[in-house]
Amino acid sequence: RAKDGGRRQWREFEPAFRSQADRQNQIEHELADALDAGDLEAWFQPQVDLASQEITGFEALVRWHHPYLGPIAPPEIVAAAQAANLADRLTATVAEAACRLLTRLPSLGLPRATVAINVSPREFDLYSVTDVLDCITSAHCIDPALFEIEITEEAILDTLVAGEQLKRIERSGYKLAVDDFGAGHSSLAYLVALKVDRLKLDRRFITNVHQSRQNQEIVGAMASLGRALSMEVVVEGVESEEEANALKALGCQFAQGYFFGRPMPAERIPGWIECRRAATQRQVA
Ligand code: C2E
Ligand code: MG
Ligand code: MG
Ligand code: MG
Repeated sequence: RAKDGGRRQWREFEPAFRSQADRQNQIEHELADALDAGDLEAWFQPQVDLASQEITGFEALVRWHHPYLGPIAPPEIVAAAQAANLADRLTATVAEAACRLLTRLPSLGLPRATVAINVSPREFDLYSVTDVLDCITSAHCIDPALFEIEITEEAILDTLVAGEQLKRIERSGYKLAVDDFGAGHSSLAYLVALKVDRLKLDRRFITNVHQSRQNQEIVGAMASLGRALSMEVVVEGVESEEEANALKALGCQFAQGYFFGRPMPAERIPGWIECRRAATQRQVA
């Protein structure tokens, strides 16, 4: 009976498994053409200073709306890019878009705003991230101090390949952020040795922070840690005014989340900045 049940279950799940594998294969196979055709784009999510409410930068997030599969989630795109040996091209596409935005920001009244891209730890084994980025940022005459690279804590752990690449990131002058901080187990010694500029606290500590004593303790401790190590602290996933106020009171400096602005295509940024300025002026008046 148990065997039968097992077999029945297997039959039931098989089509789903196969279509998942088919989907991955299809995404992998179409990725190169999609990159060539410019179907993958970067959207940008704003970051603000919690105290002054000024816009301090943007994070680039890859988007691919497939003609019939619909929107493909970024982690799926990244996995496909790695499997298809296209991780460097994906990073180059997003970095190009980031540089185009950086070039426009001064004329939008934001000459010091940064733009961040994400690099997943496994990419460090696949190609030289700084070779790709140095080429693009210098072609666009970008000040590397305004170009930020976000890596997850995983990358910090693998010190052999990653350590060398992270040192090159520092030598090239890019800003280095540790993403989803608190979700992994990076060593404080490495954070200091690698001259990490920013800690982006994992969203799990931010959700309902105003109602969770425990999250308040954690976020407060991480904000002091950031100050002690001279690292900027960014909170991500801020969805409400209550959370934003609690985070400011806990000593967090910078924030990102749906409450401030959702990821948007670059062409929508000027209008979004206008709206935001008009709204703050109304508040002051
Ligand atoms: P991440 O770098 O931690 O990016 C933040 C994610 O949280 C984004 O999801 C963003 O849309 C979402 N988010 C922002 N504010 C809020 C909020 O207030 N509430 C909630 N619930 N979510 C919020 P997205 O765009 O789906 O990206 C998911 C992950 O995929 C990213 O997490 C990043 O690790 C990776 N990723 C995205 N773009 C790229 C890329 O170009 N290259 C690489 N290697 N990874 C990327
Ligand atoms: Mg990120
Ligand atoms: Mg640095
Ligand atoms: Mg994150």
